[in-house]
Amino acid sequence: MGAARLKALERMGLVTVGDLLSHFPRRWEDRTRFDRFPGGDEEKAVCIRGVVTNVVRKFLRGRQRMFDVELSEGGTTAFSSGKVTLRWFNAYWVEKAMAVGMELVVHGRPKRRARTVIMDHPEYEIVEEDAERSIHLDRIVPVHRATEGLSARMLRWMVWRLLEEVEDVEMPDLAPPGLVIGTRARALRQIHFPDSWEEHGRAREHLVLTEFFGMQLCIARKRAEQRSEPGEVHAADGELVRRFHEGLPFPLTGAQKRSVEEILFDLRSPLPMNRLLHGDVGSGKTVVAASAMLAAVEAGFQAALMAPTQILAEQHYANLKRWCEPLGVRVGLRTGNRREESGPLPLFDHERWLRGHVEGTGDRPSLPTTVPQILVGTHALLFEEDAFERLGVVVIDEQHKFGVLQRARLRGKGRVPDVLVMTATPIPRTMTMSVYGDLDVSTLDELPAGRGRVVTAVRDAAKLADAVDFFRGFLEAGRQLYIVYPLVDESEKMSVKSAVKEHERWVDVWKPLDCGLLHGRMSPEEKEAVMGRFRAGELRVLVATTVIEVGIDVANANLMLIENSERFGLAQLHQLRGRIGRGAHKGYCVLLTSTDDPEARDKLRVLERTANGFEIAEADWELRGPGDVFGTAQSGIAPVRIGNLVRDADLMQRARGAAFVLMERDPGLEAVENRRYRMHLEMAGRKGDLADVS
Ligand code: ADP
Ligand code: MG
Repeated sequence: MGAARLKALERMGLVTVGDLLSHFPRRWEDRTRFDRFPGGDEEKAVCIRGVVTNVVRKFLRGRQRMFDVELSEGGTTAFSSGKVTLRWFNAYWVEKAMAVGMELVVHGRPKRRARTVIMDHPEYEIVEEDAERSIHLDRIVPVHRATEGLSARMLRWMVWRLLEEVEDVEMPDLAPPGLVIGTRARALRQIHFPDSWEEHGRAREHLVLTEFFGMQLCIARKRAEQRSEPGEVHAADGELVRRFHEGLPFPLTGAQKRSVEEILFDLRSPLPMNRLLHGDVGSGKTVVAASAMLAAVEAGFQAALMAPTQILAEQHYANLKRWCEPLGVRVGLRTGNRREESGPLPLFDHERWLRGHVEGTGDRPSLPTTVPQILVGTHALLFEEDAFERLGVVVIDEQHKFGVLQRARLRGKGRVPDVLVMTATPIPRTMTMSVYGDLDVSTLDELPAGRGRVVTAVRDAAKLADAVDFFRGFLEAGRQLYIVYPLVDESEKMSVKSAVKEHERWVDVWKPLDCGLLHGRMSPEEKEAVMGRFRAGELRVLVATTVIEVGIDVANANLMLIENSERFGLAQLHQLRGRIGRGAHKGYCVLLTSTDDPEARDKLRVLERTANGFEIAEADWELRGPGDVFGTAQSGIAPVRIGNLVRDADLMQRARGAAFVLMERDPGLEAVENRRYRMHLEMAGRKGDLADVS
């Protein structure tokens, strides 16, 4: 291969033969049969074959160029019936490559404009009648991710040649035979050039299982390491928790009861707890967290609850005070500007506690009465050097991205507290087995009775006045309203600007009702003051940026208006909407949008149809891919090359089982047949991540 091509390969991270063989196709085209020429708009992309019968260049305003290629169906069928216009803008390289008479294979999504069918910027390949024709036609062909100077066609040819050169023995199996069927060599050959779709499916399964197996091996080892850390028992008999539950004005849901039991079990065990509590907005995670903390308090420990924002910390503080102080438990708040309430650190005299035990008094030592037993703060608490040495339980709220690093930080402080991480982000099963694979998971899959009754409507921005009229009636009846502005282009600045500007307008609209403003650029004191007035019902309307997204709980606020809603992700809209419909009143959420993109509108309609956070998240992933919502980037897990972290749950489960069984039987991976796995772990460790075995 020439130097230029090698360079291009290197740019894609492909250096070794193994790299290129694991550069899996991004899709496949069945070129044994092509689609008919489309007559109009199609839902899906089509793959067609035809002959170029005309090319037209046009110059548009500015220095824009448009290039139309007329493709006719006659190339392959006896009579020419269809024509399609392929259209490119400012694509000199295409203009240079095209000429009348050429035969093309084209992949793209057609749309109808007046009497022509157009495909904008389709993928295409020029059919060449050469010796290599059989690589590119009359079979299922792979389309690899390409790069500048290296077309999909060229990559296909390279992989083909490579597969001719390498022997099967040079592609050894990397997963245990009980897990996968057939050899890896065959799977690699078939994934690139499948003989049939069945073969393709089998090859994919083999390779995904292998990839997941490598990942799970790393996770199994990590868990084994965690288990060997010294921990302590952080719970007594649970009397205090029982009293707490009895005093609540509502019965716990079944899911809450189950989760509390799972947590208490962990606290009673000397192994360190690493648990994720995962439940949709409004599912009642705080009660579960309070139970965990009270269990630790009863056993003579201290507990901390960390929230992502000041406002949330204040809210948790108020709730916990209300719940716990009647039980004789002291609750403190410690945030940037309210430090004085918690007194000096260290928070708990652990030495004295231990002495009490050593001296064999048998009594459970009590904390000095000035020190809070439950401490609430923001995540910043985590980074205070000596804050955590004495803690029994740490709860981290609304933080699904609580990374490996942060956890290590807690653990690095000597004694290992039990850790509970809470999130409302729906996490698919594959994620709890992978990115969160080293955590145990409790799920609140049940909302408290009477919850989630929110009617949602997507409306055109032009209908704003109607929405205002609609809300006015409810406001007059005493309810409260949120008006939310999106974060534009990641820049909080912009959304602050629009929220500030719009706020002035809203003040006039709602007169004489009071209308407040909340955004991320306000000082914590200002924010808390506004939230306080809103909670007290003094402010009837709150204009806000997404700072209200997580956790805010004002039961009387059952109305929400979201502007430019198409700029939010579905999951985020769901979170926002979760702020309303918490009290006795039915909630109403109006999503305003000015987009005329039908896809964007369809997307928003998902929210009209369902209130199930999981379904919504899935629709979001379908539309945008899981992206990094789950914090994969900081999870230490290598990106997957072929498996799908949303859809391949069953394969993940199988791979996980195999890896955990293997690690249990042979923890040191000493057996001859297991040495290759040890090498994999060492390599993954060196790279500092959990790379896959391939
Ligand atoms: P999230 O899971 O979103 O953090 P919260 O813990 O804030 O939810 O709970 C939402 C509201 O539901 C709170 O006002 C809480 O007091 C209430 N709540 C919690 N559990 C129950 C229950 N079992 N029955 C009725 N209301 C509950
Ligand atoms: Mg919450």
